Amino acid sequence: MTENRPVVTRFAPSPTGYLHIGGARTALFNWLYARGRGGKFLLRIEDTDRARSTPEATEAILKGLTWLGLDWDGAPVSQFEGRDRHAEVAREMLANGSAYKCFSTPEEIEAFRETARAEGRSTLFLSPWRDADPATYPEAPYVIRLRAPREGQTVVRDAVQGDVTFGNDQLDDMILLRSDGTPTYMHAVVVDDHDMGVTHIIRGDDHLTNAARQQQVYQGMGWDIPVFAHIPLIHGTDGKKLSKRHGAVGLHEYAAAGYPAAAMRNYLARLGWSHGDDELFDDAQALEWFDLPGIGKAPARLDFKKLEHVSGYHIGQMPDEDLMQEIADYLGETGQNPLGPVQITRLQAILPVLKAKAKTLPALLEQGHFALTERPVQIEEKALTALDTVSRGILAELTAALQHDSWIREDLEAAAKLIGERHGLGLGKIAAPLRAALAGRSSTPSVFDMMLALGREETLARLQDQAG
Ligand code: GLU
Repeated sequence: MTENRPVVTRFAPSPTGYLHIGGARTALFNWLYARGRGGKFLLRIEDTDRARSTPEATEAILKGLTWLGLDWDGAPVSQFEGRDRHAEVAREMLANGSAYKCFSTPEEIEAFRETARAEGRSTLFLSPWRDADPATYPEAPYVIRLRAPREGQTVVRDAVQGDVTFGNDQLDDMILLRSDGTPTYMHAVVVDDHDMGVTHIIRGDDHLTNAARQQQVYQGMGWDIPVFAHIPLIHGTDGKKLSKRHGAVGLHEYAAAGYPAAAMRNYLARLGWSHGDDELFDDAQALEWFDLPGIGKAPARLDFKKLEHVSGYHIGQMPDEDLMQEIADYLGETGQNPLGPVQITRLQAILPVLKAKAKTLPALLEQGHFALTERPVQIEEKALTALDTVSRGILAELTAALQHDSWIREDLEAAAKLIGERHGLGLGKIAAPLRAALAGRSSTPSVFDMMLALGREETLARLQDQAG
């Protein structure tokens, strides 16, 4: 039993060129489970498909994990590099009788299947070499096959799915080592997981049937079977299997859309796992709460509204310093210019206002546009209508009035109010030309917040630019 050993989990992606949102969630679950228990979280790149396994494809996965804030222990393990060890184990299984040499050719196997089909029998291949006397072995290439039990059942005790029973007559003697000496994927996974000391395998339920066959390899070697937890795959908004037509499936697309990593961790943790009614939580809580019984059996659906909500919460909660870093990362990720020192100072000044409302980083930057733009401020057409002659006159008066007042909200408000009253206009009416002059836009934070963030000199210069 593996229950009492320190927890070791792993994420074992095949390099596909990017980190899929489902893979990111699998990685997160494994990370939370291990880190929440003082265990290890390992990474194995299943790079046996040489054509797809480019360094760039691996790099994309590491980059995705790093962006998400998931750190792993030790260097990533390359499955391909372990091929000698995989072969060695297959030979050990030959020696202990849990595997056998099969000399059947592809043509013979095909002929077997055709006959079986014609006779209405199962087409699962039954090798004639399973019980053959080694004295009868030909001088010919062979594969090494698992000697799987033919009778009875194999039960996968899954922490999510419960006991899942497979009739052994449905599981054939799978190939462990091909005739060219290369291991099969199914075999390599078991050897790697055993050698890496993995105690808990948390992965998508598309691997559930594999678990039954992999379990037989563990048994063949007399190895401890890890705890399996097969999690339902993520579905799209319509309840169908997630695909590109539902929207972004690559984690990098979410990063580029400006969802902070902390929000993605929270959102992904809730995709298929729950802790009571808790929807919004931080890493410390997730690490404390995450467990296998909280994983549901029904597929979780992507819900972009919920993601926005979670994202808004995390942006609002984030310390300013971290948020500035997220913004810098986001700009880098999307190929935009980094912020200059003046932009940083102004954005920092308005950040408490912006972060209370924004749901994504681009939405935050959009509201903070006035702090990032420079004079002369470009005035959008919609905002231009607020700058008629009367309004320009008001801006001139205000510029004069604000020369000497102290730069605090009460005084700014009082000055604007006074001038408004002089013209029989409320603050609301005064605000439109001020927004236009300060930001060039009609939708902005409050004009006084903008003035405070910009400071006296810049505010007056922007007002002066538009004053008539
Ligand atoms: N490489 C497999 C995949 O990307 C995962 C295998 C496993 O977790 O056992 O789907």
